[in-house]
Amino acid sequence: MKQVYLDNASTTQLRPEVIAEMTKILSDNYGNPSSSHNFGREAKNAIELARKSIAKSLNCNAQEIIFTSCATEANNFILLSCVKNLGIKRIITSKIEHHAVLHTVEMLQKEYKIEIEYVSITKSGIIDYENLSDLLNEDKKTLVSLMHVNNEIGTILDLERVATLCKNSNAYFHTDAVQAVGKSRIDLSQLPIDFLVGSAHKFHGPKGIGIAFVRKNIVLQPVIYGGEQEKGLRAGTESVHNIVGMAKALEISIGNLETEQKYIQDLKSYLIEQLTTVFPDCIFAGKPDETQYNIVNVILPFDDNKSGMIVFLMDMNGVAISRGSACQSGSSKPSHVLEAFIDKGFLTKPNMRISLSHYNTKEDIDSLIEALKKIQ
Ligand code: PLP
Repeated sequence: MKQVYLDNASTTQLRPEVIAEMTKILSDNYGNPSSSHNFGREAKNAIELARKSIAKSLNCNAQEIIFTSCATEANNFILLSCVKNLGIKRIITSKIEHHAVLHTVEMLQKEYKIEIEYVSITKSGIIDYENLSDLLNEDKKTLVSLMHVNNEIGTILDLERVATLCKNSNAYFHTDAVQAVGKSRIDLSQLPIDFLVGSAHKFHGPKGIGIAFVRKNIVLQPVIYGGEQEKGLRAGTESVHNIVGMAKALEISIGNLETEQKYIQDLKSYLIEQLTTVFPDCIFAGKPDETQYNIVNVILPFDDNKSGMIVFLMDMNGVAISRGSACQSGSSKPSHVLEAFIDKGFLTKPNMRISLSHYNTKEDIDSLIEALKKIQ
């Protein structure tokens, strides 16, 4: 049976150029970047070139990029270090964040007595900016942590608006941009963002490598102690092949951005058209014309008892999708993201997140629709 992959918000296929670059490093450049001999210096050089390349794509300084093992670690590092080292007393976040942020702020509330406020979410799945502005009126040492693109529904945060609100209120601003890095242009020289997080495997790079952007002159402390790697902010021998693979993946994604975006946007339009034609009673979580071009979350007019089985049933028909983030795709419980803004009546219905890449085709979408017809 043909296998169709429509779960690109969970992870993406590596680009061949990335594999080539990583293989070269793995076979030829195996020195420890902390060693002072030539093998080590070459490895270190590869890392610093990768850092410069990533900084160029995000329009920031290379020194502002710190390599971590994944975005989850980068989020943990920033949130925890802000509390321990910047004297943050309150975190404003939202109920639609990824668990890498939500569970970390819950821990900070419990262990460090940090006050947590959740900004309201509108019926379209975006944050209520007026509510954020009101919350920011309180005079407390605050960090705002709001994701750029939601991984389950694709809604997009207005980074400029939030960054400006935070700046005017003297609050720090952290954004989990895992679903946006490599998929949209982010110009950190123009946006007053303090911290940003990305992950290579979401933009056709390797798993096990992420970045934390920390704005110059903000002094954080590590959460992992050991050697002096990453200026002492993240100990542990660097994963050179992953770092180089990530830089290559980002360089190509940004280089091809407009072409691939247009191609994927057309696929998304076709997907919406097919879904609404074949299942006129389906509804979308997040307005499809306002969500990112690669993510669609649809609530299907099928029997409630299909909810827990939908991923399995689609898989049996050769189509890989998910219900929310990969970690909860097998659960029959509604996702925490949908729970935050969808009417209760729809929460028991089966939903699915379809997330596209430039490797997908219209035939993949036809396969999805055929599979849905079979299991409805
Ligand atoms: N944040 C968001 C929005 C995500 O979509 C993900 C991945 O699912 C993560 C964080 C975690 O990223 P990583 O797999 O690099 O830890």
